[in-house]
Parts: sequence; structure tokens; C-alpha cells
Amino acid sequence: MLESVIPAYVDTRKIFLQQGDIRGQLSLERLPRFINCLADEKGSVTIDLKFRLNDARQGLISGRLQAEVNVICQRCLEPLAIQLADDIRLAVVKDEDAAKQLESELDPWICQDHKLNLAELVEEQLILCMPLVSYHDGGECINRKNYVSGESKGNEEAKSASAESPFSVLMSLKESDATD
Ligand SMILES: [Zn+2]
Repeated sequence: MLESVIPAYVDTRKIFLQQGDIRGQLSLERLPRFINCLADEKGSVTIDLKFRLNDARQGLISGRLQAEVNVICQRCLEPLAIQLADDIRLAVVKDEDAAKQLESELDPWICQDHKLNLAELVEEQLILCMPLVSYHDGGECINRKNYVSGESKGNEEAKSASAESPFSVLMSLKESDATD
């Protein structure tokens, strides 16, 4: 079981020197901005991160994030289970200037003091790797859509048909009144 407790913060002065690893499951409730992108709060997030110093004594975070969550299908607006996986390769820097000096293959993670908020980092990376739109696989979604639109169309026709007849009867009665 991956049940190690993920700390809220890591101290960047220590974790790189200690070559720390952080692995485990992060509950979705610790990722409120990520939840805003989802259909519900069910799911799991697994992280596996390594904290290392490179030859230039830069703090690098590498590893992998995986999530199984539900999003809204943009075609039928029903929940859809998706899996996200993202390889992380971040350099921890103290400000924008330091970020600009990074080699191009490294993405910066700005951490001004020594407290690195892990949930915030995970949340940001997961949001970045979310697909812009998600759809059910063709057949599944089309079946749902046909079912929903077919049903509502049938109801509308039934309503308009039943609404039409008393109205036309009334009109014909009025017309006959006027001519009398
Ligand atoms: Zn769908």
C-alpha cells in the first residue's frame, strides 16, 4: 500500500541535500483548484518525486504524477473517467530572474522562501496536463446522446400536438361566434 503521509511543505534547504524521495497518494481534497476542473471529488492522485541537486547545485524535482479522476464529457455533459500521467522535471528557483537563466529543457518552479508547497506544485502540474476537452469514446457517447435527444424530441412533439388541438378548437369557436 502506498500510504505514506505526504507532507504539506518540504524544506528546500534540506530535501535536495538529503536526496529525498516523496511517494504516495495525495487526497483530492488537498487540491482544490484541481477539483474545480473535475466532475466530482472522486479519484486518486499518486506522486513519485525525487529531489536532487545537479552538477550546478540546482535543485531538481523529477518523477511522475498519476491521477484517475472524473471530468465532464464535452459532447454529452456526463461524467467521464480519465487517467492523467505527467513526467515532472522542474528546477526550483527563487525568482523570475533565476527562472529565465535556466536551460531550456528545465521548467522553473519558483519558491521564494524555503517552504515548498507540495500540493500546490502537484496541483499546478496536473492542471497543466489536463486535456482541454474530453469526450467519451465514440460509441459510448453517441449512444447516450441519441438516447437523450431522441427522448426530449419525442416529448416536445407530444406537447405541441396536445397544445395545438384545444387552441385550434377555440379559434374555430371564436370565428363562428364572430360570424353569427
Ligand atoms: Zn460523452
